Amino acid sequence: MRPVIGVLALQGAIEEHLAMTKLAFKDMGIDGEIIQVKKSSDVGRINGLIIPGGESTTIGRAASMSQLLQLIKQRISEGMPVLGTCAGLILLAKSVYDRVLGKTEQPIIGLMDVVVERNAFGRQRDSFEADLDIPIIGDKKFKGVFIRAPAIREIGPNVEVLCKLGGVIVAVMQDNIIGTSFHPELTNDSRIHQLLIKKVRLL
Ligand code: GLN
Repeated sequence: MRPVIGVLALQGAIEEHLAMTKLAFKDMGIDGEIIQVKKSSDVGRINGLIIPGGESTTIGRAASMSQLLQLIKQRISEGMPVLGTCAGLILLAKSVYDRVLGKTEQPIIGLMDVVVERNAFGRQRDSFEADLDIPIIGDKKFKGVFIRAPAIREIGPNVEVLCKLGGVIVAVMQDNIIGTSFHPELTNDSRIHQLLIKKVRLL
């Protein structure tokens, strides 16, 4: 099977994920296809999905108006692998809150058994990079880029912690769902994208 990875292309770091997925295929020596997911008919073509960072309220609203959110939710619940980064993680979480407003009433997919806090590391000007230990992708540190990043505050029994930073959970996996607080598409290291592609190839 020639894997087809889709990048949800409504708002956010779309180009960067397209480029990083291309690099991941190259690094793995796999001939894969990458498409932008913008409309319902695109969802039927993909074997795996990336939900990018950006603004989770904007992405969620746009996706729910076009029925994309429901379709994507259906595919993920049937086992399609998905990687959500930053805002993408927020959209996958079952519960989302914000320190100022409390529980946010934004449209989400809500399939991952985690509670996330939006903007937990501060505002845009508090963006930072950190060398992360993520054993599942190997011993070499991974450069984590955090931009108005969410923190994972609670996890359910089926959720595996992939990475912590200073005691805060910043990457998780639950069966076919991977979520990161940081932006793996803003590095030149394709290992997180490879993790998604590996799941697709196991299907
Ligand atoms: N703070 C943003 C949100 O809540 C996420 C930031 C990002 O994706 N870089 O949607």
